Amino acid sequence: MKASGTNSESMQAGNRFLVLRLLSQRDVCTRTELAEEIGLTQASISKIISELIEANLVVEGDLSTGRKGRRAIKIHLNRSFCRIIGVKLARRSFTVGVFDLRCSLLESRMVPFEAGKTKPAQVIEEMIHVCKDYMERYGDVRAIGVAVPGPYLREQGRIAMMSQFEGWDKINIVDSLGQAFRIPVVIEHDTNASACAEWYYGTDGRFRSQQGTLLSVYVGEGVGAGLVVNGRLLHGSDGTAVELGHMSIKSDGPRCSCGNYGCLELYCSSLAFSENVKSGLINRPESSLNAEKHIDAKTVFAHMRLGDAYATEKVREAGRYLGCGLANAVYLYNPKRIVITDEMTGGGEPFLEAVRQTLKERVLPKLAEDLTVDYTSLKSDPVLLGAAVLAEEELFDKPRELYAEGGKGQEKRITAP
Ligand SMILES: [Zn+2]
Repeated sequence: MKASGTNSESMQAGNRFLVLRLLSQRDVCTRTELAEEIGLTQASISKIISELIEANLVVEGDLSTGRKGRRAIKIHLNRSFCRIIGVKLARRSFTVGVFDLRCSLLESRMVPFEAGKTKPAQVIEEMIHVCKDYMERYGDVRAIGVAVPGPYLREQGRIAMMSQFEGWDKINIVDSLGQAFRIPVVIEHDTNASACAEWYYGTDGRFRSQQGTLLSVYVGEGVGAGLVVNGRLLHGSDGTAVELGHMSIKSDGPRCSCGNYGCLELYCSSLAFSENVKSGLINRPESSLNAEKHIDAKTVFAHMRLGDAYATEKVREAGRYLGCGLANAVYLYNPKRIVITDEMTGGGEPFLEAVRQTLKERVLPKLAEDLTVDYTSLKSDPVLLGAAVLAEEELFDKPRELYAEGGKGQEKRITAP
């Protein structure tokens, strides 16, 4: 991910990246809009656009009537130029999606496996098989993005550990897929991939100029987060930064498998939440949850929606715990926007309101005032979309790979500068 633009010739590649990035998000722009948004001169933008048109990556469309009634040609990214693949690895399944160059999903397939029984090498083999199938059917796939459960050790190219599923620490997924397909393969922690998807496709556009700080928080079986600052992911020295789930909110709380005590995810992950609901149920004989044989987070949300007071209280309590963790994160990172995804979003308004209220109580008024906290607005799986976004970025960043053999329908070829 890149920071904002510059007119310096030496930054030509970075500027072209920003133009491609913006066209991918917006669909249609004029040269004037691109120049204003990226902060470049009209001449610089025109030069980049001519080059991209010649490469068939960008196509001119109709005339639009801009401000002051001036007519300008609409420009859009040639979404059929090539395909990209996004892969999401989870603990009990993997999903492969094939996308066009604007990260619109064309088709996806989820393949379940038995954690602990299926060997990681078998999972990789099956993953390669599904990717190959898509490549044969859709043709011209230029990059693959992979999102993996963390912690992911970036420098070493391997997953540090996957709970209940051993052997992943011995596998380098980038090398395995790279050797099979000979195209760029990028890998990222799933929460980081999700944050990238939020940054580009999930917000209301306030981050389009690549400025701002976004914290994307995953609250499901575990709690994780990704942080994007001015268009860049924060990785930390080993690539495991922003592991919010293992931030302690109670120094004398229960011991976590990570070694710390009172970790956030022991209080508000969906697993901790349902266990907590179950253990308190004995004191609440009036709760409709007593009629349930099996209680998970979804069950509690369903009873909350039917008006069960105990279920609602517990949802609010979990929201307050998350709010405590997020208050710490606000002091650390000062985000402008926090986006919450995954299972606990089933807690609806009561959960979100408790998070917001707790933040308001615990954070300096000025910080709270400038902050928005919402559930994700993405309609598709943010992790899979994020994997595709990473692959797209790799191509935009390395146009030599993108230009190498031309795209669909291309007649002219150019050499990337
Ligand atoms: Zn922990």
